[in-house]
Amino acid sequence: MFKRLQTKLTVLYAGLFGVALTLIAAAVLLAITANAERQVRGELVAGGAVFDRLWAMRSSDLENDAGLMTRDFGFREAMASHDGATAQSALENLRQRSGVDVALSVTLDGQTAASDGHSLGADGAAIAQAVQTDTADVDPAGVAVIGGAPYQAIATPILSPTLMGWVVFAQKLDRREMSALEGLSSIPLHAQVLERGADGWISAGEPLSGADTRRVSRFVSDALANHAGPQQLSMSDGAAIALVKPLKTLDGAPSAVLLLRYPMAMVMAPYRLLMELLVGIGLAGMALAVAGSWALARSVTRPVSALVAAAQRLQQGEAAQVVVETGDEVGRLGESFNLMAEAIGERERRITHLAMSDAETGLPNRLALERRLATAADAQGALVAALSIDRFAMVRGVIGYELAGALVRHVAARLAVVAPGAAIGRLSSDTLGMVFRAADGAAAAEMMARAVDGPMQVGDATIDVSVTIGVADSRQPDPDRSPFVAAAIAVAQARTGHRRVAAFDPEAYGDPAANLSLMSQMMQAIEAGHIEVFYQPKFDIRRGCVGALEALVRWRHPQRGLIGPDLFIPLAEETGHIRALTDRVLAQAIADQQHLRAAKHDLDISVNISGRLLSDTDFADAALRVVGSAPGRIWFEITETAVIDNPEEALRQVERFADAGIGVSIDDYGSGLSSLAYLREIRAEELKIDKAFILDLAASRKNTLLVRSTIDLAHSLGMKVTAEGVETNEAFALLAGMGCDYAQGFLIERPLPLKDVLTFLHEDRAAARRYG
Ligand code: C2E
Ligand code: CA
Ligand code: CA
Repeated sequence: MFKRLQTKLTVLYAGLFGVALTLIAAAVLLAITANAERQVRGELVAGGAVFDRLWAMRSSDLENDAGLMTRDFGFREAMASHDGATAQSALENLRQRSGVDVALSVTLDGQTAASDGHSLGADGAAIAQAVQTDTADVDPAGVAVIGGAPYQAIATPILSPTLMGWVVFAQKLDRREMSALEGLSSIPLHAQVLERGADGWISAGEPLSGADTRRVSRFVSDALANHAGPQQLSMSDGAAIALVKPLKTLDGAPSAVLLLRYPMAMVMAPYRLLMELLVGIGLAGMALAVAGSWALARSVTRPVSALVAAAQRLQQGEAAQVVVETGDEVGRLGESFNLMAEAIGERERRITHLAMSDAETGLPNRLALERRLATAADAQGALVAALSIDRFAMVRGVIGYELAGALVRHVAARLAVVAPGAAIGRLSSDTLGMVFRAADGAAAAEMMARAVDGPMQVGDATIDVSVTIGVADSRQPDPDRSPFVAAAIAVAQARTGHRRVAAFDPEAYGDPAANLSLMSQMMQAIEAGHIEVFYQPKFDIRRGCVGALEALVRWRHPQRGLIGPDLFIPLAEETGHIRALTDRVLAQAIADQQHLRAAKHDLDISVNISGRLLSDTDFADAALRVVGSAPGRIWFEITETAVIDNPEEALRQVERFADAGIGVSIDDYGSGLSSLAYLREIRAEELKIDKAFILDLAASRKNTLLVRSTIDLAHSLGMKVTAEGVETNEAFALLAGMGCDYAQGFLIERPLPLKDVLTFLHEDRAAARRYG
């Protein structure tokens, strides 16, 4: 209901206080009322007693006056002689003297005569009747109604000596009388005489409103029936405590009462000030409670709100601390929050540091360098260099990871000396990155390379360190790659060019991005038949004719045209797609051998088998099945390095191929790390000398020697020898002279599609030409 804790607390506290206050006020009011009522009841009872006394006093006064009259001789004479006028005058005389309101005589026959000569009518008859019936009493006394108003009356018999009649003296019970009575009470009572009328109790002297008459009448009836003491009576002018006192009547019937009333308002009047004070104190207390609980709630919620705000700041990654003002729970919560925020901040700083540094060397990492470059580039533009430690993998293999890390640190330290002010970090395991300024980047890098190169003591080992540096210029923004990537590529470019320093050359780099999806395209090309197989003839030097063909794969790319194997074979080997490609070439070669045979050209065909496939038993199984269906002999060309990498498995497969009648050629002999030991173990029938030795055979005496000894060696091991890359007649002649068995190269023919091979064979061009 209430959104804010402060409002909630305030309402709760103030509400509780209000309830308590109301309860107290109610209790006080009840106590006061009960007390006042009790007091008033007592007063009313006392008032009733006073009235009784007053009544008795008045009665005896009237009785004295009436007695005086009945003893008056003249009056008695007049009554006896029925001299009404004299009797009346005597009566009137006495009445006036004694100050009585009404005096009348009643004869034995019930005739009444008022002293002032007024006719009494029905009232007179009623009085006469009452006087005559009330014989038990010597002096009948009580309330009588005359002219509609109540009177206190007393009747005294006239004896002369026999009863001649009665004298009745009556004093009006009017407002004045009542006031006298009221005046005698210690509290301001209201007294009133009521008579029983036809419809209930009515006030003769002091008329009431219709509603009040009914209420009073019912009240009086109930009180008389229950003989009750003072009771609550509600009237139109408010509640009152009232006491009903039955009055004796002249005729003895219970037909008149005295009603003593005391309004509650007056009862409570003395307490009004107290009540007002109480209400005032209550309201002031309430206001204080509201203000107090508001302040208290504020003292609780303010630090909580501050905590909430701080937590939000913390969430947004800002520094957040709250001011702790108290030592209570909220204060302690604030302290804990501050500690927590500090710990989070500290952790964040640590994480940022970790994210920005190389764990092994503690140097800034690539991310840190890139940030550094961003700020440096903003200012003026800067150069970026990548320093790659040469032979790093090899060195690491010898000294281990830990010392290799130390080596990187040492190199960075040397660099920092020669390039003060440069930002230095680690880009990758063997490469440091650098952001620096120089007029000529390449010259500066050359100077750095010279400064860093040289022997370095790492642990127990002394290492000859040399670096290759690639430089990129961040001032020429390149959308394709970051300056660090460009610098790293420049390192590779430097190495290919056998240079120590190179600036990034975008043209030489080309667009390798196009090759990224080459493999999926190649797989589609195999499906679509875009993979073709060309054949290059191998010339049998001794027989002077084409002796065999080597199958060489080509990719006819719809957009890029004919793509040579050098572009996609290494990629296919790396990604494992070489299997599918080789299956395709082998199947095509066997099919084409069938075509050739149909054209009466029964030729062996060599297929290149990637080193990776030599350890693939599954491939070997499939290849052996397929080759079994070939019409002629199939050769597999394998490089010797493939065997050296995984000798056991590779030799086992080669063994299986040889057993199945497949000819095995050792390809590219001399290009890698040739090992004579393996040469003996491989069950090969042919050795192909790498074209690197043949291309400049005529020019290099060293190569001539190497080729000659290789031919002799192969022959001594029972192998035929093919020379690749025969481009010139000189080379051909030399090879022929050395006893080489086959020549393969552009001199004889380039790799050709099958139909061109057929034409070439058909025209017998090889035989037509004279080589050497
Ligand atoms: P390789 O097995 O050494 O094939 C001979 C390469 O030398 C061929 O290049 C051929 O065109 C080239 N060549 C032939 N005669 C001469 C010459 O007189 N002078 C010069 N400079 N080059 C000559 P190609 O066709 O581009 O093939 C390159 C390499 O791709 C091959 O070298 C071979 O290792 C690989 N290769 C080709 N086809 C396949 C294949 O189907 N499977 C596998 N695994 N590798 C293949
Ligand atoms: Ca080959
Ligand atoms: Ca070769």
